[in-house]
Amino acid sequence: MEITQENRKWLDDLQLTHPVVIAGPCSAETQEQVLSIAHSLKDTDVSYYRAGIWKPRTRPGMFEGVGALGLKWLERVKEETGLKIATEVANKDHIELAIQHNVDMLWIGARSTVSPFIIQEIADALEGTDKIVLVKNPVNPDLALWIGALERLQRANIKKLGVIHRGFSTYEKTKYRNIPEWQLVIELQSRFPQLPIICDPSHITGKRELIFEVSQTALNLNFDGLMIETHSTPDEAWSDAAQQVTPESLVQIMQDLRIRRRTTDEEAFQSTLQQLRAQIDILDEQLLDILKKRMEASDHIGKLKREVNVAILQNKRWNEALERMLQTGKEKGLSDEFIEKLFKAIHQESINRQESVFRN
Ligand code: PEP
Ligand code: MN
Repeated sequence: MEITQENRKWLDDLQLTHPVVIAGPCSAETQEQVLSIAHSLKDTDVSYYRAGIWKPRTRPGMFEGVGALGLKWLERVKEETGLKIATEVANKDHIELAIQHNVDMLWIGARSTVSPFIIQEIADALEGTDKIVLVKNPVNPDLALWIGALERLQRANIKKLGVIHRGFSTYEKTKYRNIPEWQLVIELQSRFPQLPIICDPSHITGKRELIFEVSQTALNLNFDGLMIETHSTPDEAWSDAAQQVTPESLVQIMQDLRIRRRTTDEEAFQSTLQQLRAQIDILDEQLLDILKKRMEASDHIGKLKREVNVAILQNKRWNEALERMLQTGKEKGLSDEFIEKLFKAIHQESINRQESVFRN
């Protein structure tokens, strides 16, 4: 698959000096709610107004969206505020209705991207239209599945494409609702440099306090835009209450963000440097996470050794492990000196921690 300049024309045509902002509530709830949020976003940097009409909820019995009725409210938003409108579609009926109501931008939700059958149905229904279609990443970190969805849309002749990074679900509890796995997105960017990429910090974080920092990371990585869930009374929202911000906070977030533009010529160096530094920051954080897990495993061994009363330092095991690390390090182009220093430090820290387990 090839993503060309043509695929990002819809974005370039906006001629923005800042990342494109898509904002609005997680779900359309009432006509009044939809219109009042839209009016508060009217004279801001927001270009597209989002609202979910059909909501894919994890469990039945939760609020599943107002359905087609909400499309009339979105059309009023467009008439009254001039904002362009966006909603999630998950089957051919949604697409037919969204087209009838002049929705400008359609996005495919994370739970749909995982299913090639759904994506094919969507692609077939979109064939011959000129809608902007943004594909959210699948819930699981599978780059091929994400790219596969783009390929199906391309084969249906959809030209105005883009992706939304909304994080990946994990079994493990983390500070995020859906972990960003930035390295996967960086890979997508390097394979398709022209592909418009939007970050959805609302679904990544699950909490409004973290939205700023995730948005900043996205801009450091040269994302083209942000989709941020916005509600006049977030705590009372019918879905995703904890992650929605007020229109006032949204404006503040946009003011505080440092914008890194794609640049050419003399600024290209600075821009690449920033991007590489942002990657390094992310990798360093991952290193710390791995070190934490490594220490927890060795604490656990410490406890086991105490229970059966064996010595902490097991020389044979350590020498073998170090030998193995030197060998693997060599294969990865890492010097013996570095590997030895690094693993001696890690090993020493493990011993210190196990000793403190023995003392306590
Ligand atoms: C949404 O944007 O409200 C939504 C349901 O998102 P996701 O598909 O990322 O869960
Ligand atoms: Mn939501």
